[in-house]
Amino acid sequence: MRNIDHLIAGHAAEAGAGRTSDVYDPNTGKVQAKVTLGTAADLEAAIAAAQKAQPGWAATNPQRRARVMFRFKELVEANMDALAQLLSSEHGKVIADAKGDIQRGLEVIEFCCGIPHVLKGEYTQGAGPGIDVYSMRQPLGIGAGITPFNFPAMIPMWMFGVAIATGNAFLLKPSERDPSVPVRLAELMLEAGAPKGILQVVHGDKEMVDAILDHPAINAVSFVGSSDIAHYVYRRGVEAGKRVQAMGGAKNHGIVMPDADLDQVVADLAGAAFGSAGERCMALPVVVPVGEATATRLRDKLIPAIQALRVGVSTDAEAHYGPVVNAAHKARVENWIQAGVDEGAELVVDGRGFTLQGHEEGFFVGPTLFDHVTPDMSAYKEEIFGPVLQIVRAASFEDAVRLPSEHQYGNGVAIFTRNGHAAREFAARVNVGMVGINVPIPVPVAYHTFGGWKRSAFGDTNQHGMEGVKFWTKVKTVTQRWPDGFGLSGGDLPRGSE
Ligand code: NAD
Repeated sequence: MRNIDHLIAGHAAEAGAGRTSDVYDPNTGKVQAKVTLGTAADLEAAIAAAQKAQPGWAATNPQRRARVMFRFKELVEANMDALAQLLSSEHGKVIADAKGDIQRGLEVIEFCCGIPHVLKGEYTQGAGPGIDVYSMRQPLGIGAGITPFNFPAMIPMWMFGVAIATGNAFLLKPSERDPSVPVRLAELMLEAGAPKGILQVVHGDKEMVDAILDHPAINAVSFVGSSDIAHYVYRRGVEAGKRVQAMGGAKNHGIVMPDADLDQVVADLAGAAFGSAGERCMALPVVVPVGEATATRLRDKLIPAIQALRVGVSTDAEAHYGPVVNAAHKARVENWIQAGVDEGAELVVDGRGFTLQGHEEGFFVGPTLFDHVTPDMSAYKEEIFGPVLQIVRAASFEDAVRLPSEHQYGNGVAIFTRNGHAAREFAARVNVGMVGINVPIPVPVAYHTFGGWKRSAFGDTNQHGMEGVKFWTKVKTVTQRWPDGFGLSGGDLPRGSE
């Protein structure tokens, strides 16, 4: 049995207490590795290495730090196939999606290759007589990232790319469900030239997370995961005096106006609702047709499209999606399907009880479609995080704006229409952080920023782009005056320099 250990001070390190967690192959349902569950003592070793390495790294000029990012990008690209294979074998997403996961993270690394430019401060000459004011962005010191299972490459890179490029040391606590790719990324960062202690991986569960949140040497914590835990991490981290950003769950809506291209909408939904088995925080699990006629036409087109989806093992190049991450999650998704039935929604396509021949123990869930879902149902209010699409019918554009605006989550939303005015109104008024206009999964590119509203994010700074730079640095502002200590008379100075 393979053991997945911490990566501390440049070396694999086993945990002191000897607790482990099983890492499954979701295709077969079998345990394929055991990951170390760390303790506060393990964290202490990583903190010591980070403290040793960080001052020198912060003092390294930003162009040299950027060169490490360039080399890291090349190494990840050179290892793309192996990384995607490893990611897919622990997560269950198909290889194309695994490559997408890595690629979207690499785009943040590309942004970080330009870090010298974005770290330049502001300057005012002559803010007063002989007085200049300038500001600089300095690293926080040691930062930590706590990441979810569903993007084991992209989300760590969102965080450590910017944190490290700006001069911090970074401790990554990845999901214990698919921890191998984060470790590989940290090894590649070492190979790229990052000093030992600049990117370390500590594994664990709540015990390690609490140790991170309470440790006085950690200045900032970035978290992505489910909302209750995000809120907990936010509260406890802030209480300990840290800077915290904590992204949570989602329930994204796709509004379909009567004038939308329904064939395109159906094709988009096949990917956005069911891709990666619905285990994406920017998935589109709720579709809101406006008007009964739109709803009927959409439903008629959706049913055959959903029935045609191919569920397969994650290495099947023809499969639309693979298994969900583990048995507990499969049971949870199926329980939510039952809850929808119990609450009175119409189950149009039932994905429960799905088995794949030859992989009967795999964690597969068939594609599921509900119609006549209403806002009072708990199956609507809560995040299911599985291959389940719900149709919520809206009578008007106003109703359609209200649904995502009043939902507890506010991560992403999309509108499908040919009407520019409707789209513009919707984008301006909807109470959600990321909006797609005829774009089903509006994940902003790396040089913009990622972040939802309401219970989808606690704290006020987004991931990556300039918001990421802001999160991982603090501003120092200098007001300077240089009296004429060398006896230069005013007449010797060029005019205008006072
Ligand atoms: P999760 O909340 O179970 O786990 C996230 C992290 O928290 C993991 O590292 C885990 O080890 C740790 N953790 C788990 N239980 C804990 C506890 N009791 N105390 C402290 N830490 C704990 O989330 P997940 O199931 O891995 O990921 C899926 C969730 O993440 C979904 O809700 C999804 O919407 C969300 N997500 C959000 C975004 C976003 O940007 N908003 C992006 C991706 C995923």
